[in-house]
Amino acid sequence: MYDLVVRSGRIVTPDGVVMGDLAVRGETIAEIGQGLGAGKEEIDATGRIVFPGVVDAHVHLGVPSKDFFSVDGVETGTRSAVFGGVTTVIDFTVQEPGEDLVASFERRRAGIEGKAHVDVGLHVNVTSFSQAALDRVPTLVKRGATSFKVFTAYGEAGMQLGDAEILRLADAVGEAGGLLMAHCENGEAAAFLRERAKAAGNTAARFHEASRPDLVEAEAVHRVATLCRLADCPLYVVHLSTARGLEVIRRFRGEGWTIHAETCPQYLLLDRERYEGEDGHLYVVHPPLRTAADRHALTAAVTEGEIDVLATDHAPFSRAQKGAAGGDFTRTPGGMPGVETLFLLTFSRLVALGDGGLTPRSNASLLLLARILAENPARLFGLVPAKGALRKGADADFLVFDPNPIRRLRTADLHGAADWCPFEDFEVRGEIRSVYLRGKRVVEGGQLHGAPGDGRFVPGRTVPEAPAAPAEPAEEEVAD
Ligand SMILES: [Zn+2]
Repeated sequence: MYDLVVRSGRIVTPDGVVMGDLAVRGETIAEIGQGLGAGKEEIDATGRIVFPGVVDAHVHLGVPSKDFFSVDGVETGTRSAVFGGVTTVIDFTVQEPGEDLVASFERRRAGIEGKAHVDVGLHVNVTSFSQAALDRVPTLVKRGATSFKVFTAYGEAGMQLGDAEILRLADAVGEAGGLLMAHCENGEAAAFLRERAKAAGNTAARFHEASRPDLVEAEAVHRVATLCRLADCPLYVVHLSTARGLEVIRRFRGEGWTIHAETCPQYLLLDRERYEGEDGHLYVVHPPLRTAADRHALTAAVTEGEIDVLATDHAPFSRAQKGAAGGDFTRTPGGMPGVETLFLLTFSRLVALGDGGLTPRSNASLLLLARILAENPARLFGLVPAKGALRKGADADFLVFDPNPIRRLRTADLHGAADWCPFEDFEVRGEIRSVYLRGKRVVEGGQLHGAPGDGRFVPGRTVPEAPAAPAEPAEEEVAD
């Protein structure tokens, strides 16, 4: 007898959408198929979609700004995640100036214990470069941190690495079988443009985007891609925001080089007009929100399979924190909430509405969504086969989703600590009915059934696996 059987759902597996049952034994998926045997507990998923637990590969749980921390730490950030169907998040270590990289990793890992509602992986932020840091790379990879992130900007915060440093780190990371992640903006150019805006008194939010234009991103993508290519290290570009940056990635790929690309819902759904409003400063993020043309180019890239991963860069600051600098974009902390709305927004736009040329409500759209929200991040960050897909033997991380209700997003309905939501009032399709983490029901009917400590650290394995190839869409079956 199984512990749990989810009956008669539309189950999104890597090999296609299966109409049938999903059985769980202990923490893992025991079987997927039709007419499975009895379970101690059974749930009826007729008319529902059974979707793999989302892997948000880019969250910041308690990110330090100059004067304060972002409002979602491990506990509230992962609570927000689990309500959004995200069962694994990948957070970043925070390296103090000169701190040993392994020490920063162990500190972060210890900070997860007993607090997380979902499973948590860790990327290693390298903000303080040294030979000693390089020497720690193999140890970190062995301990399950296989991805190393660098910033080509934020020199003013002491976080920016120079080209020689990135090159040497890429060499060490590639050698150890890891992946280099890069925040791509030319820090010197951004600093120059920021100072010029300040000198002209142009510090209102509406000047933010022009202080970090698309050229600033594209230059850095090109440079880091070049360095990684020279060092023979795989590269993952975080939060790609521009058509121009995408063009650079295409060019490298066209020459046979693998570059992985991530973008975020805010770069698909919001544009720089947000900076014009009274609340413009709330939307200060780095890179900034872009033009409608950028949004459309990135949405098309998602649907063409050119974007490997959709993640959120979840780093919420409260209205008070965002407003502390009186709307001056040069002193406003960058970041916004996102982890809880990731699945619902992207399902609504890509699957229900068929944005970017997808067929609305088709199995092919659902499979694409599962790849970019779960399977690809799990593969790239070494979390497969446990995470990322509904298949026999994998962790029983999934959500049961009713695709039919229509409602508007409201901050009051969300579960993080932020007192605002960048997607307030957006119409969304569907409702997450329940969420399971390793076989345990953690959310049902809008209520939390799990507890802090349900989630644990999940180590990444070496040698990131290539993103999944699209499953052959058998026939275009339209969901009802
Ligand atoms: Zn980030």
